[in-house]
Order: sequence, then structure tokens, then C-alpha cells
Amino acid sequence: MPKEPRILVVEDDMRIRRELLDALRSAGFEVDVAVSYRDGLVAVQRDYALLLLDLGLPDGDGLDLVRHLRDAGRGLPILILTARDTPDSRVRGLDAGADDYVVKPFHMPELVARVRSILRRSGRTVGQGLVRHGDLWVDAETRKAGKGEAPISLKPREFDLLLFLMQHPGRTWTRDQLLDRVWGAGFTGDARTVDLHVRRLRAKIEDDSSDPHFIETVWGVGYRMAEPQEVR
Ligand code: CA
Repeated sequence: MPKEPRILVVEDDMRIRRELLDALRSAGFEVDVAVSYRDGLVAVQRDYALLLLDLGLPDGDGLDLVRHLRDAGRGLPILILTARDTPDSRVRGLDAGADDYVVKPFHMPELVARVRSILRRSGRTVGQGLVRHGDLWVDAETRKAGKGEAPISLKPREFDLLLFLMQHPGRTWTRDQLLDRVWGAGFTGDARTVDLHVRRLRAKIEDDSSDPHFIETVWGVGYRMAEPQEVR
């Protein structure tokens, strides 16, 4: 798993693409490129820390890609590159779900600074209420969850437990602590309630629930959500 944030650049102009690639790589980022709308749509299935997106693509409108990703519940930060320097086009870009935009021609150091700033802002929590962990995501606002593009249907308490664990990656909780924090102090069930919910969650979120990569059992203690870089 790469340590540096991986950025996807979708840009059809070869000269701009090359400049972006050089500047971002020397700034320490891992960068992949896509040269068309179709290319970008396929590439963005991978997990990226940020999408740098040109709007004027030969086979489509970048704004449609933004809408597509947001409709699918993808919260990755999107920075739009646009030659359309009218207030209206900026508003449409942000309305579609982009986080920021840069108007061409742009000053490369400024663009890199914007990228850094967006990544700093997003941290592990992206957007409002959206928490991501590898390709697994939960949205506290809409109470939806999914893995990549695939939605995961969760019962209310399963959702609460998953959200709580994802908000504290790497931290181990005892069953009693989880009952207290997720079910609430007034709940009178016992520790097996937690085990039952973890089992159900694993069946829904893990590729192989007998070999969990997200919710780990800490023997003799309780459970923890793996750190994102530990998820294989
Ligand atoms: Ca273009």
C-alpha cells in the first residue's frame, strides 16, 4: 500500500497532463493519469485521495463524472480544472459536488498548494459525515454505507456500530465499552449482543468474514477497526 496520497489526473491535453504529473510527483504524490472521460470513469474505481479533473474532455463533460461519483456515494475530494471562467460555470462545478476549482491557465505552485490544502482538509473524513476506510464508506448524514460503488444494507444498530468503529480506526474497544458508546448506557443487553452485531457486520463488509480485514478481534479484549493502511 503506497504511503503517499495517490492522485488521479483526468486531462486530455498532453502538455498540461505532463506538467501536472511532473509537479505533483516532485511534490511527493503518487499520480495516475487518464486521458478521457471513459478512461477516467474506469480509473476512478480505484481508491484515490483526490481527483484532479478537466471539464472539457473529448468524449464527455467532466461535470458528469463529478455527478456520477457523488450519486454513487463517493466522497473523494475533487478539484476541477476548467477553462470556463464564468461565475456560472464555477457555481455549476461546485453544485455538482466538486470541492474546489482552478481556472486555466493556472500557476503550477498554486495548484499544488490547493491540492495540499484539500488533502489536509479532508483527512480521513471527507465531506460532511462521510467516513472512509479503504473502499468501505459510511455516511453519517444519509445513513448509507457501501463498498466502492456497491451499497451495503445495514440495520440501524449495525450502522451505528460500524460508524463508531470507523471513526476510531486502530483503537481497541471492550464489549462493555461498545455497549455503552453505541447502544447507550440505558441498554440492558449483554456482551453477546456485540458479538452478534460484529458477526453480522463482517458478513456484510468483509470479503471473507472468517478472515476479517476491517473489524478485527483482539483476543481477550474486544474489537478494533484496522488502520486503513493495514487493510489489504
Ligand atoms: Ca480539455
